[in-house]
Formats: sequence, C-alpha cells, structure tokens
Amino acid sequence: MQVPDVVIAVDGYSSTGKSTFAKMVAKAFSFLYLDSGAMYRGVTLYALENGMIDAEGKIDEAALKAVINTLDLHFVHDEEGTKLYLSDRCIEGEIRTLGVSSHVSPVSAIPFVRNYVDDRLHSFSEGGRVIMDGRDIGTTVFPNAEIKVFMTADTDVRARRRYDEMVAKGENPDFEEVKKNLLERDYIDSHRETSPLTQAADAYVMDNTDMTLHEELVWITGLIQGRFGIYS
Ligand code: C5P
Repeated sequence: MQVPDVVIAVDGYSSTGKSTFAKMVAKAFSFLYLDSGAMYRGVTLYALENGMIDAEGKIDEAALKAVINTLDLHFVHDEEGTKLYLSDRCIEGEIRTLGVSSHVSPVSAIPFVRNYVDDRLHSFSEGGRVIMDGRDIGTTVFPNAEIKVFMTADTDVRARRRYDEMVAKGENPDFEEVKKNLLERDYIDSHRETSPLTQAADAYVMDNTDMTLHEELVWITGLIQGRFGIYS
C-alpha cells in the first residue's frame, strides 16, 4: 500500500510502546522514523556527564543554556535502525538507562531545551513521509500532522514492558523502581507548563494493553486507508 507524503504524530504515556509501534509503521510504509524522546534523553545525558545535574537532581540551567545550541545531536539511520549520536559518538545505549530516565522529565520541562529539540526535529523532517513519537508531537511539534495517534495502556503492563526491555539489555532493574519512574515521568510530563503531555483533540486513541503488534498494524492500516484511500 502506498501512502502519500504525510506526517504521523504518535504521542502518549511512558512505555506505551510508541517507538515500537512507530518503527513498525515506518518499516511497513517507508516513513522516516524520528524519536523525540531520544533527543531529550541525549540532552540529559550531556548534562549529567558535564556536571550540570547535582546529586539532588538540581539542574544548572544557566550552564546548560550557554551550550545547548552547540550540541550536535542527530540520528543515524542504517539497516539496524535509528540511533542517536552526539557529534560522532553513538549514545543510543547510554540514553536508555534508569540514570537518564530519572532526570529526563525535569530537563525536558525547561523551555529552552524544548525549543532546541523542536528546532532539531523540524530540520530533520523537512518534507517527506515522517512518523515521530513523543509527548507533544500532535499538539506542538506538528499540530498539522495528518494523522495523530494517542497511545495508552494499563500501568502494570507498561512497567512490565520497560522492565523486560531493560533485562533484555543485561540490566538488573527493580520492578517497583521502574514503575515508580514511569509514573513520575507521566506526572511531570502531564503537569509541566510548556507543551504538557495531553491528547490532541483530533487524535485517535489506541489502548494497546491487550493488543499484539500485528493488531496495531492492522489498526493503523485501516486508519491510513480510511483517511487517504488505497493507492496500490
Ligand atoms: O519517549 P521516552 O520515554 O524516551 O521520552 C523520555 C522523556 O522525554 C519523557 O519522559 C518526557 O519527559 C520527555 N519527552 C518530552 N516530549 C517529547 C518526548 C519526550 O517531554 N516529545
């Protein structure tokens, strides 16, 4: 099935499977996949490594503001998928740890951080078919996206997915810690002043608590066909 050059925005709570879904759709319909959360994680990793976040979690905003526009965060797309780089260093592994997860929401609530990430995302996605996942893609980054999906799922199911993902990567997480981090991020993301996580009025809601990936693909295929018809 061919799809015209459109933008699909995928938003929702932490660990609802947004990136798995978006990657699958990107592969099925040849979209460019962009993970906005990875960008916020990249900024957070940089701040942590450069002493801009202290032991209490306080962020040195002035120091971060002074350098943020010099950060060369970008994606490299190859046959293995999409990976985030900071200049010529691949940071895809480091940005997914609980250490980064526990600081990323306060960092991403800072307005100048959001401006930096939004500018980068727009420059990466000029023209063409793009699917992007995050928290504010359909409301702020691409308010005119042709298709908006808002994903949600049962909290324990989400925590279990994130936990399994970390175990598969060789980490040794505590389930309750993982769940706590997820709920904290949801709270901060939904309550911040700038671009809070909220469902766009024109978004289609997907509760994937009991859905398989195949069912998700069938769901979005139906949506795309309903919106644009069948091209081939
Ligand atoms: O999607 P992921 O869990 O990797 O995102 C990490 C964090 O980045 C989120 O918890 C949220 O605080 C922030 N984020 C955001 N806006 C986005 C994407 C992610 O604030 N569009």
